[in-house]
Amino acid sequence: MKEPFLSALPLIHEIEAAGFEACFVGGSVRDFLLGREIHDVDIATSATPDEMKKIFSKTVDVGIEHGTIMVIHGGKGYEVTTYRSEHDYKDYRRPESVTFVRSLYEDLKRRDFTMNAIAMDKKGNFIDPFEGRSALSKKVIAAVGSADERFREDALRMMRAVRFVSQLGFHLDEKTENAMKQHARLLQHISVERVTAEFAKLLNGKHKKKAFELLLKTGIYMYLPSLFNKEEVVRSASRLEISSLKENDMWLLALYLSGENPVTTLKKWRLPSKKIKLLAQALPCLLRRQHHDWSGFELFAAGKEMAILVESVFLTIGGEEADVAHLMDMYDNLPIKSLKELAVNGHDLIRWTDKQSGPWMGKALHEAVHAVINGEVANNKQEIRSWMENCRLI
Ligand code: ATP
Ligand code: MG
Repeated sequence: MKEPFLSALPLIHEIEAAGFEACFVGGSVRDFLLGREIHDVDIATSATPDEMKKIFSKTVDVGIEHGTIMVIHGGKGYEVTTYRSEHDYKDYRRPESVTFVRSLYEDLKRRDFTMNAIAMDKKGNFIDPFEGRSALSKKVIAAVGSADERFREDALRMMRAVRFVSQLGFHLDEKTENAMKQHARLLQHISVERVTAEFAKLLNGKHKKKAFELLLKTGIYMYLPSLFNKEEVVRSASRLEISSLKENDMWLLALYLSGENPVTTLKKWRLPSKKIKLLAQALPCLLRRQHHDWSGFELFAAGKEMAILVESVFLTIGGEEADVAHLMDMYDNLPIKSLKELAVNGHDLIRWTDKQSGPWMGKALHEAVHAVINGEVANNKQEIRSWMENCRLI
């Protein structure tokens, strides 16, 4: 066994010492078997949350109604979830209440895909009643049991399937794919936040092209919020070299391809306002970039994050690989990267002129930034002062 399982092993030992079962489950076991980076280690147990609280002194209620508590151990938090079976699915959504059970098999049975329904015990033995390991070796995503029922129970699982395609490059087994075609419209019942969370992972995946093809083939795209609900947008994006692009690049690319208003469109996905602001500013910047190369001042004004974003999408649209190394060199060589770095500030201007503060100051500083970036004057207080005097800015 390896990290991060090793660090979490004492938790399993303690739960077992108290007379209950516990094992690793879900994404961490899947990613371990695939040799991928392991994110969060999830533990499943036969102990109820109340029983767990008696075993561990430091716990946080993170999702107690679903049987999940966080156990703090060695300065880290581990999610431990009681074995549960889900029923009473209403409106094609995850149930509000769950039933705790004492059987690991029952718990694995309610999971979405066979590759996500593998458990690993403290010795590293696998409990794999649905042949998830075989699915992993065949690179197949297959629903646990009847795909038809599983998607009707919780339609978000269809979105999860597509994002796993994007992350892993796997394909769907035939029954799972057919069930998706049949139930795509059920996605309308799922909250935008849950769809967006999965979609963001899809947009970061390496195999987006394959995922987009699946969105089209199954008709899922039609039930997504604005932008990616347009066939031409999804199709055009999938024809470009998008594999290395990240989530924000993909939002910007889709905005460009669709011609839709960035703010109203991205609000429909309930994206954080900071992200919406960045993307709304990036779009005009991208349109400008199509007409001419970056000037030093444009790079300065855009800032590093936005410049990389815009350049990546610009290169992708032009059929090139999104290699931004050259632009980064340009950015790193800017004499100043923010107004704060300018050797002169508003106080200096007032001291030098005895004038009242006013819009003239902003103009003078702005001109000075331009001049410094264009190499007309060095970023030095005295030199900038003389330059400003020569230009009659002060
Ligand atoms: P990631 O590596 O992105 O976290 P994950 O598979 O761990 O992927 P989580 O959302 O963390 O995804 O869920 C943990 C586990 O819970 C899954 O592996 C799966 O077994 C189960 N699960 C999650 N969501 C669902 C769902 N909607 N229906 C059924 N089982 C689910
Ligand atoms: Mg996970």
